[in-house]
Amino acid sequence: MLFDTLDPRLSVALHSIKEVEIETTPLAELTTLHVGGHPLATVRCRTKQACIDVLRKCDEHQVEVLIVGGGSNLVVADGKLPMIAVVLDFDEIVLDLETGVGYAEAGAVWDDFVDLSIKAGFGGLECLSGIPGSVGATPVQNVGAYGVEIADVLTEVELYFRDTDERAWLAASHLDLRYRHSNLKYQDRVVVLAVKMALNKDGLSQPIRFGELARALGIEADEPQARREAARVRDEVLRLRKAKGMVYDEADYDSWSAGSFFTNPIVSIKEAAFVREIVQEMDPELARTMPEYEVGEGLRKLSAAWLIDRAGFAKGFPNGAVASLSTKHTLALTNRGTATAADIVALAAQIRDGVFEKFGVELVPEPVWVGIKMPELPNGEA
Ligand SMILES: Cc1cc2nc3c(=O)[nH]c(=O)nc-3n(C[C@H](O)[C@H](O)[C@H](O)COP(=O)(O)OP(=O)(O)OC[C@H]3O[C@@H](n4cnc5c(N)ncnc54)[C@H](O)[C@@H]3O)c2cc1C
Repeated sequence: MLFDTLDPRLSVALHSIKEVEIETTPLAELTTLHVGGHPLATVRCRTKQACIDVLRKCDEHQVEVLIVGGGSNLVVADGKLPMIAVVLDFDEIVLDLETGVGYAEAGAVWDDFVDLSIKAGFGGLECLSGIPGSVGATPVQNVGAYGVEIADVLTEVELYFRDTDERAWLAASHLDLRYRHSNLKYQDRVVVLAVKMALNKDGLSQPIRFGELARALGIEADEPQARREAARVRDEVLRLRKAKGMVYDEADYDSWSAGSFFTNPIVSIKEAAFVREIVQEMDPELARTMPEYEVGEGLRKLSAAWLIDRAGFAKGFPNGAVASLSTKHTLALTNRGTATAADIVALAAQIRDGVFEKFGVELVPEPVWVGIKMPELPNGEA
């Protein structure tokens, strides 16, 4: 059901729940893109139980809910939003020094968890340093960076199932974790309450597989399984990320983004060859350096950033606009201070269409869209 204003009976019911705060905060203040309008209410939940109670009440009143962690992977529509924003503010972190199990509640800041685990002498999370947002959202799109993803360390998740009103710990294998995907993405019926991760008790990093990071750490190409002190790897990852505007910083518009806006396209070998032919015609030298990785039988991963750049959209494009590509990273669409969701979407469509026109590859957005959609490709092509 769609509502324009908060039903007074639901308002009373929500106010009666302990450990809950009800506000009028717009999504523009809860997201790192800083766009998004006013929900019916913004409800902050300080405990897991408060969150469950809030969700039960919303379901009883058939009101749509948007679960919000750090708001760093959301593109939310402007204007009035016929939903309640439920912000997860429960954030306990427990590190078991004996077993190496890291436990964190969903609302904990992801990078605090990484930092604490490394300071406690554990490795495992260092390559995921500096990713904005909450712990609870990390399984949602199987976050990843520098050759490591949550699937490599996540063992269990505590879930609340709104449809059956059940709460249970499940093994991570139930989540269908793949590249920037899980079965928790694009749904709001199952909520992550807490996670458990298996950390490296020897204080060493995961094997360093990502070329740029390996080079920064002085690792030779013939050492694919090299591991280094986790704290050192974290410092290097943060340095690399900051240089790309990939650590959220209120003072830096290049980080007013949702991170990488498009996923790296996964195409058939035939499609990859077709793209290479086009690049070959543009510049044979360029075709030699076109990034292309094998990712399963008959499939190739291309680089979205590379395609965007070669389609003529340089960093900072379009210069001086309220919404533009980051000046530090081609793949981040940014709000330069006053952009609306409509501005971000128009830029996203322009870039997707330009890449499609040039290379015949349709870029797919990575963030979750709320109340707003990407326009169709021109002429219904796809
Ligand atoms: C500067 C920048 C850099 C980034 N770099 C990376 C990167 O390197 N790698 C990467 O993978 N991502 C990256 N991201 C994207 C983003 O940080 C991650 O996807 C992050 O995990 C989102 O967390 P969040 O708490 O902000 O989620 P939100 O944006 O609040 O929510 C995202 C989605 O998850 C749902 N959700 C949130 N919490 C829960 C929960 N507890 N249970 C169920 N559903 C939930 C929401 O409803 C929404 O659908 C980056 C973003 C920015 C702004």
